[in-house]
This record gives sequence, structure tokens and C-alpha cells, in this order.
Amino acid sequence: MWRKLRIAILLLILGIAAWSNFYDRLSTTDWDETLYVGIFPIDEADNETAREYIHGLENNQVAGIEEFLNSEARRNGVAIARPFSIELYPPVTEPPPMRAADGNVFQDMWWSLKLRLYARRAVRASGRPPPQIRIFVIYHDPTFNRSVPHSVGMQKGLVGVVHAFAHRGMTRTNNVVIAHEILHTLGASDKYDAETLAPLFPIGFAEPDLDPLYPQSLAEIMAGRYAIDSRTFEMPESLDEVLVGPATALEIRWTHL
Ligand SMILES: [Zn+2]
Repeated sequence: MWRKLRIAILLLILGIAAWSNFYDRLSTTDWDETLYVGIFPIDEADNETAREYIHGLENNQVAGIEEFLNSEARRNGVAIARPFSIELYPPVTEPPPMRAADGNVFQDMWWSLKLRLYARRAVRASGRPPPQIRIFVIYHDPTFNRSVPHSVGMQKGLVGVVHAFAHRGMTRTNNVVIAHEILHTLGASDKYDAETLAPLFPIGFAEPDLDPLYPQSLAEIMAGRYAIDSRTFEMPESLDEVLVGPATALEIRWTHL
């Protein structure tokens, strides 16, 4: 009797989780009403200049992301006036839980659960209406951190963690990374080779039909880089040099087969 009850409860929990993931996926990719994305800056820097940057961030610094995603959505046939609304939330002091670099499946599941709870707490603490997608942006001090950990965006839980640089000159490249992670939360996959960082051909190329093929001058958002030649890849300087390719548009259901 006990055993049956325990199994029933477990199945119920799994069922709720599966239903909620399924519901999230449908409700965020049906493109019939505005999708709300909240950007939560996190103050990880321990110097004054960086802190000033983080606390001086304004909505117009993330406005470029909304403009980019909305114009790409329109180009891909999304008909509503404002597919994305992207808003900056006040800085959060508690950093998100970190993923173990070489964690096993269970550690990863535990981390993703903790991240969801963290996101819910942070939204509640802001006292503002909850966005559907929560992106936490950890701003590092560029003078001390030449490289930062990998950013992540998860469709399960609709949460992203972005590592960015607290510097005015980096705002536009930060926005490229934030847009990339937002699209991960909507189900887009990476389109570059994990070892060489080369954009995958043709799906990771912004202009795969260009003749000659090189140099490319625009990047596909989920490839993250564009190819100057077959072994040189550049990161775009801003979203002006980026587009959403047909494979990504299909994954996030802007288009259909
Ligand atoms: Zn990615």
C-alpha cells in the first residue's frame, strides 16, 4: 500500500514537471502575444567603476536586444506588433547557484532545480510583475577577467545565466550574448563546432549562399561567430552584425515546415 502510494506521488511530481515544461514550451513559442523577458544584473565586481556601470544600467542599454529580436521575428513572418518585451530589473545581490564544471547528471539536475528556485526568489524580491523568461547577467570586471565562464540558457525553467563585462564599451557585445541565451530558452540550439568554434555550414552561416562564400560579414545568432575564411572566425561587435537564420527560426517556431 505504502509502496504504491509512494510511486503514485513520484509519478505525479514527474507528471507535473513534464506538463509544466510542455506548457512553458508551447506558451513561449506560439507568438500570438508579447513574450516578457526580464534582465537581472548581478553585481559580481568588486571595484567602484564596475559597480557604477552595473547600477547605472538603464533600459535603453537592453533596448537593442528587443529591437533586434522583434525585427528578426517580423522578417521571419511573426505578425504581432511586439513579439518581445525586454526589461531591465533592479540589480540582484545574491549570485545564482553555479553549475559544477564536471558534474554528473544528478548534480546537473540538482543545480537546475536550485536555479529555478533562485530565479523565482529573485523575481519576487524585485516586487515587479514576473517576466516569463528570466536572464541573470553576472557582470565581471573586465580589467581582472579576460575570460569568463560559459553562459547558459535553459528551456526547462526558462532561465538563463549570462557572464558579461561591466564596461560601457562592452554593452553591445554583451547584448549579443544575452540575445543568444534568450533564444536558447526558447529551444534554439548552438550552431558552432564546440571544439573549433567554427560556425556550422550551412546552418551557422548568416549568408550560406554568398558567392564566394568567404568572407562572411554577418553572424548567425546561435553560431556566435562569422567566418572570414575556412579557419578564421570573428565575433560580431554588435547585434547590427547578426541575424537569425532559418534553422533557428524553425526551432523557436517563428516558421514551420
Ligand atoms: Zn549557446
